[in-house]
Amino acid sequence: MIATMQDWDMVLTHVIDHGAREHGNREIVTRWSDGRITRSNYANVRHDAVRLAEALRAMGIAPGDRVGVMAMNHVHQLSAWYGIIGAGAVIHTINPRLFADQLAFIVTHADDRVLFYDAAFAPLVEALKPRWPSVERYVCLDNGEYEALLAGYAGNARWTPVDERDPALLCYTSGTTGDPKGVLYTHRSNMLHLLSGMQPIVFGYGPRTVALPIVPLFHANGWGLAWVSPAVGAKLVLSTLNDPAIWCELMEAEKVTDIGGVPTVFIALFQYLDATGRAMPPTLKRAVIGGSAPPPAMVRRLLEMGIDPAHAWGMTETSPIGTTSHHPANWDEMDLDQRVASKVQQGRPPFGVEIRCVDLDDPARVLPRDGTTPGALEVRGPWVVRRYFRAEADCVNPDQWFATGDVAVIHLDGSLQLTDRTKDLIKSGGEWISSVELENAAMGHPAVAEAAAIGVPHPKWDERPVLVVVLKPGQAASAEDLREFLRGRVANWWLPDAVHFVDEIPHTATGKISKLALRAMFAAQ
Ligand code: ADP
Repeated sequence: MIATMQDWDMVLTHVIDHGAREHGNREIVTRWSDGRITRSNYANVRHDAVRLAEALRAMGIAPGDRVGVMAMNHVHQLSAWYGIIGAGAVIHTINPRLFADQLAFIVTHADDRVLFYDAAFAPLVEALKPRWPSVERYVCLDNGEYEALLAGYAGNARWTPVDERDPALLCYTSGTTGDPKGVLYTHRSNMLHLLSGMQPIVFGYGPRTVALPIVPLFHANGWGLAWVSPAVGAKLVLSTLNDPAIWCELMEAEKVTDIGGVPTVFIALFQYLDATGRAMPPTLKRAVIGGSAPPPAMVRRLLEMGIDPAHAWGMTETSPIGTTSHHPANWDEMDLDQRVASKVQQGRPPFGVEIRCVDLDDPARVLPRDGTTPGALEVRGPWVVRRYFRAEADCVNPDQWFATGDVAVIHLDGSLQLTDRTKDLIKSGGEWISSVELENAAMGHPAVAEAAAIGVPHPKWDERPVLVVVLKPGQAASAEDLREFLRGRVANWWLPDAVHFVDEIPHTATGKISKLALRAMFAAQ
């Protein structure tokens, strides 16, 4: 039997072809570090990408070669992505906030032949050059060198043909344990992820969307937004600097409808609004929050502002969309408290992804979806990793389940609720304390800007919880105030033995609380 429908390769250059053809004039606004604002569009981005593909071929870049990009969000990063895959090569997104040793490791491990970078990272690049023997050519993206390179080409060449199962993008996890691990997405996995990402229950972007992705494109496949936006003709607003004042200016001037970032972004944004008396612009309808769990107070504040807190769970290993807290069927009947309770959960998987929890000690035992039994979260699906780049064995079990390292319950309605990361759970007297629940409870105190809970060794109880707190500017609270506040909100034996007040909580390269650094700071005290 021979199939009679057209074969359409799921290769990602189709995305920018479509964007240029159907939404060619739709704008991409970049706010550069020096304050300049430039405007491009999908037709121009495609033109630049074709020229870059030609330039890369002329440099000898062959299909499958890796090309590094170490840049903040701006239009040249977007065209570089499409140009690299247009030459059949693999985009390696590099997080400039990694430690020097990690940067030395990943570029060498990826075997990057060409490296694009922002002028702001020039000192870092210079310092690392001796440790990056594979890189033959460096191109600065924002000092005129990139445009000069493209100027040598007419822009009427064709894309290098690739197969849909060929690799397209390589992204390393931030290596909170051991060396960073590379996740190598294929054109096909990213295309399926993109089709899923376009749904209203995921990003819900459309031609009227004006998106300000605060999440950096180098973090976890840029959440897929570089693929979703041209596919639907969303206007993109990009800033090379992370600064709440700039976000607010851009949101107002460009009439932004959708933003996305990790919870620390919203903490910074709220602090800025409180300090200046500014408000979120009325155009803003949706805030995608992922990377860590937003505390209930954050979700409530967004809901009260009329902004949908679209909470999402995922990992670099899941491209990254795993679940989203889209409105459940009975949303209209819910009051504010119920909505907050619903949105702080990580939600349900879109079609394609499957999740389950297994016993923490016996992974062969699948746990019931009863909303009460926490277990180790596993995931599988068409955009979930099977094997890390250059690894010798698969990282999934024979049924393709990938163990996430997260601890969660799954509710009766299928909604996922993370309770911790396996390594962050606090074990006290043989029982588990969820650091996340303790943090969330502490974040409900009106004087608290950010809170982190860690376990510190204890001779009798094994570990005891300790809370590290940043107070809001101008606010005061004592350790006893906080313990008093927590009493009744968490079990008595969960109450922290100590509360440390700090000016700043250390964050990882992807903006998450660094429990590793906190343990080093407070474990001995
Ligand atoms: P890393 O932080 O190791 O660089 P990722 O960015 O891929 O890697 O992070 C994935 C992890 O982030 C998940 O396994 C989970 O622990 C955490 N995470 C992501 N989204 C959420 C969320 N919505 N709520 C809680 N934790 C989350």
